[in-house]
Amino acid sequence: MRSTVFRIFQTLSNFTARRATTFTPKTPSSPLALKASMPTIPFFGSFFGSSASNNMASSQTSYPDQRSNDEWRAVLSKEQFRILREKGTEPPGSGAYDKHHPSNGVYTCAGCDAPLYKATHKFSSGCGWPAYFDSIPGAVTRHEDRTFGMTRTEIVCSNCGGHLGHVFKGEGFPTPTDERHCVNSVSLKFTEDEQTDGAKKE
Ligand SMILES: [Zn+2]
Repeated sequence: MRSTVFRIFQTLSNFTARRATTFTPKTPSSPLALKASMPTIPFFGSFFGSSASNNMASSQTSYPDQRSNDEWRAVLSKEQFRILREKGTEPPGSGAYDKHHPSNGVYTCAGCDAPLYKATHKFSSGCGWPAYFDSIPGAVTRHEDRTFGMTRTEIVCSNCGGHLGHVFKGEGFPTPTDERHCVNSVSLKFTEDEQTDGAKKE
């Protein structure tokens, strides 16, 4: 039980690496230290609870692209389905776009091709997933995510509801918004065509 909880804690810590190092500076090395670190798990939630403000939608929101799970399975890879439709997470540092820093271009939804982020929104966070300080206006919808005993802000594609990742606020990155959209590479496709928009689909 303890090791399971700790593994979840480690997983979540990857998402919140900067916070984690602030509040748990020592890696728990003994059973005693591990026990002492455990009360910080619910405590984590409070850091993200207040970021749930603008663009929040209920999880019941319906999206313009209403494809069923069977229809999604037909067009997505297993990994894309796991992440986009089942809210999975790719391993940190594994994604194609983690260290991808083009000077222009657009990242679109890997499910429905809706444009989500511009190359100019991307920054290097060192967290192991692609990071954006903002999205194309209206392209991303936020939900409160209370899984793992924490309150985080999930982000999904506004067109198909596909899971992208989470957004974190107030981490001190030198960006215009002080927000980090932590997005799975698997949820994205990149195109150099800046003119990609909803009206231009193949
Ligand atoms: Zn989409």
